[in-house]
Amino acid sequence: MKSKIDGFLNLVKQRNGNEPEFLQAVEEVAETVIPYIVKNDIYHGKNILLRMVEPERVITFRVCWVDDSGEIQVNRGYRIQMNSAIGPYKGGLRFHPTVNMSILKFLAFEQVFKNSLTTLPMGGGKGGSDFDPKGKSDNEIMRFCHSFMSELFRHIGHNTDVPAGDIGVGAREIGFLFGMYKKISNGFTGVLTGKGMSWGGSLIRPEATGYGNVYFAQKMLEAKGDSFEGKQVVISGSGNVAQYAAEKVLQLGGKVLTLSDSSGYIYDEAGIDDEKLKFVMELKNIKRVRIKEYIETYPTAKYIEGKTPWEVKCDVALPCATQNELNETDAKILLSNGCICVSEGANMPSTKKAIAEFHKAKILFAPGKASNAGGVATSGLEMTQNSLRFNWTRAEVDEKLKDIMSNIHDSCIEFGKDDDGYIDYVKGANIAGFVKVADAMLAQGIV
Ligand code: NDP
Repeated sequence: MKSKIDGFLNLVKQRNGNEPEFLQAVEEVAETVIPYIVKNDIYHGKNILLRMVEPERVITFRVCWVDDSGEIQVNRGYRIQMNSAIGPYKGGLRFHPTVNMSILKFLAFEQVFKNSLTTLPMGGGKGGSDFDPKGKSDNEIMRFCHSFMSELFRHIGHNTDVPAGDIGVGAREIGFLFGMYKKISNGFTGVLTGKGMSWGGSLIRPEATGYGNVYFAQKMLEAKGDSFEGKQVVISGSGNVAQYAAEKVLQLGGKVLTLSDSSGYIYDEAGIDDEKLKFVMELKNIKRVRIKEYIETYPTAKYIEGKTPWEVKCDVALPCATQNELNETDAKILLSNGCICVSEGANMPSTKKAIAEFHKAKILFAPGKASNAGGVATSGLEMTQNSLRFNWTRAEVDEKLKDIMSNIHDSCIEFGKDDDGYIDYVKGANIAGFVKVADAMLAQGIV
């Protein structure tokens, strides 16, 4: 088996040698899916995984815009249309200076499996730009978004490819992108998700990724006869996913100890309660300043510069910032501090070695493609509401989100149970995600 996996990975490496994040994501899938393919004749000998690692289409384009001082700026835009076997391409746009082909291909590849897990008819894609929104005025953001969409529009459409937000792309950016798409296409369609409520958005979409992650962790804890009640929870990030993960943890009776950004983390031993979380939301979403400012209002909390929060003793850890933010050393510290559950809100936040530590210790570990699928699932619900030209209530969408997270959890158990009864959620998510896409690809022939 090892030689089969190595042979496959060598081939992928030859073609994508300079894309470490993409190779990391492929390796994690190959190690669990290839043994499954070998045991199942219908997939064997069809090069099905090799077809899945090759994007159906990769688009890169120039994005020129004028900054507030009149200087012409040039950025690079991307859209990776990875797989459309089970539905239109679907996946977020990321605006961050680190964006490159490797990062977007890893995200697009993960998205294919994640979208399949939701049971909704969505293929996988991802896109974005190396544009840095930090410190830009609203007018600069608008000019950039308009320029970006003036090219992207020709490659997307409500039945073709439906982007959403990701790091650096929230409600403000989706508004500017949608405005330009609507103007150029001369049509009001659900071409983007994460829209505002008065122009086609869905209730619960802003909350969905963070809430969904906590619903998933709750299912894992319940399977062990446990709950969030009284749990000490460490969260990284302070953006969309982190904020709503924190909100749901509080609703379920847990205590949130930390939040972070790329400069450092805050540790509030007394707990970040509803009032403090509201303050964080204002800091990050309206004032758009650093998390460090928290301690000016709550001076009993500590700010730890340049570090991640994994050194804080906790029961549950929710990495909700970015890829590879939790490494082997962090994993060992979390385990030695008694952490029993890690549920990924971000995409691929744990390194391969960190995951190996969690598996070795047999704690509950949920990979992002399962535990953060609530965001794209609710985007799928937004698409359905757009097609119906109808809005579901907050309670209806929340109920559907809970059901979807529960179904994903069940799929992980179905495909991820080890001989000793331990649930390997990584294996479960990879295989369950693979089966639906592979079956559709086989049915559609070699295209
Ligand atoms: P936001 O832009 O709202 O927030 C990102 C947060 O992560 C910020 O606090 C940011 O800090 C921090 N961060 C970014 N880069 C780094 C870094 N290199 N090191 C440490 N911290 C960093 O993004 P989201 O909350 O939407 O996304 C967070 C993660 O969740 C991403 O991995 C994304 O792909 C994933 N995700 C998001 C979904 C969604 O619906 N939004 C859906 C599924 C997954 P700073 O301000 O300093 O950059």
